Amino acid sequence: MKIMAINAGSSSLKFQLFNMPSETVIIKGIFERIGFETPEMIYTIDGKKTKEKVSIFNHGDAVDLLIHLLLSNHLIEDLSEIKAIGHRVAQGGSYFKSATVIDDFVVGKIEELAEFAPLHNPASVQGIQAFMGKMPDALSVAVFDTAFHQTMAPETYLYPIPYEFFQKYNIRKFGFHGTNHHYVSKEAARILNSRIENMKVISCHLGNGVSICAIDHGKSVNTSMGFTPLAGLMMGTRSGTVDPSIVPYMMEKTRTDIHGILSILNKKSGFLGISGISNDYRDVEEAAKWGHERAQLALKMFLSRIREYIGAYVAFMDGVDAIIFTGGIGENSAVVRNDILSNMTYLGVRIDKDLNNRNAISIHQPDSKVKLLVIPANEELMIAREAWCISERQTVAEFK
Ligand code: AMP
Repeated sequence: MKIMAINAGSSSLKFQLFNMPSETVIIKGIFERIGFETPEMIYTIDGKKTKEKVSIFNHGDAVDLLIHLLLSNHLIEDLSEIKAIGHRVAQGGSYFKSATVIDDFVVGKIEELAEFAPLHNPASVQGIQAFMGKMPDALSVAVFDTAFHQTMAPETYLYPIPYEFFQKYNIRKFGFHGTNHHYVSKEAARILNSRIENMKVISCHLGNGVSICAIDHGKSVNTSMGFTPLAGLMMGTRSGTVDPSIVPYMMEKTRTDIHGILSILNKKSGFLGISGISNDYRDVEEAAKWGHERAQLALKMFLSRIREYIGAYVAFMDGVDAIIFTGGIGENSAVVRNDILSNMTYLGVRIDKDLNNRNAISIHQPDSKVKLLVIPANEELMIAREAWCISERQTVAEFK
């Protein structure tokens, strides 16, 4: 059975087609600059990467082209071979607690929830509608970034502000990156030959966006992002959590309106804001090596906040069996992992520096009380798994 995983942005459409349940990737790629002057399609089949300029005007055109690509390369002989399409949706609010078959009602709900994710949810709806229009017989499944965190308890997800703000406006912690935190925690159990139901895990997603998640018995019990992905740790361009009182003070001092300040906190802070060089970890690390003081400071701030959250979540769960590193920085930077983990001897964390330098999957010493794992992020595979599980139980014909 073939399952397509889709991640639609306002001007992009990422796709990956899997054979299930073997989970082999048939094709993966992205349409970029949709709606702009020079849209491009980049895709990989059998390890061969192709990049082409394309003439498309919207997401529907991109889907037409994708279908043509699949048929002309004989990756499928008929559209009916694709049983389901899993769509990444950023914000499922308190309403969606798991992956869900999409119908008109669900599309309406995703649109309604756009007030919490104004950039992302409308783009997902564009992707969903494009595929529903072109491939009406495939089952459409929404996989929400927030759903995994719906298991948090009220004392964790509520902010200590007047309760009416939750009752009237649903202001609460939602958490994000849930699809990947879910995926890597399951992978950790598989790698350690254990059951996720018996484990306490801390998953560190360190990429351009950064979040840490405490996972107890397979369920998210706490996470660093909040009502929006601005909260928590320091990121590429996002500040993470700051004292909210600095917002009016910044407005007053710089005579900037609230949107301008929010833009500074979202787009000009983090690595970029402190280093003054770049939002990209590699650039900052390189500059730090050459003695750039603000780049060195940015790295120290990044690392100390990660240690702070890991410590908090160990206390929160009363222990930890495994710490996972994922995302572009977590998967690739031996320096970051070493700096974080070398200072946790009190927890019985013992990193194997040699394995760590080689970016091995398991990077702990045999007597380490806490297992240390490096697991590449793979949201697309998790989306395909969720869509596959649902389609196994229910075909689109039964659903309709
Ligand atoms: P992501 O958002 O998961 O794609 O991660 C992007 C971040 O990963 C950027 O800050 C990159 O600098 C960082 N990154 C990617 N490759 C490496 C690498 N080989 N070593 C260190 N950081 C990396």
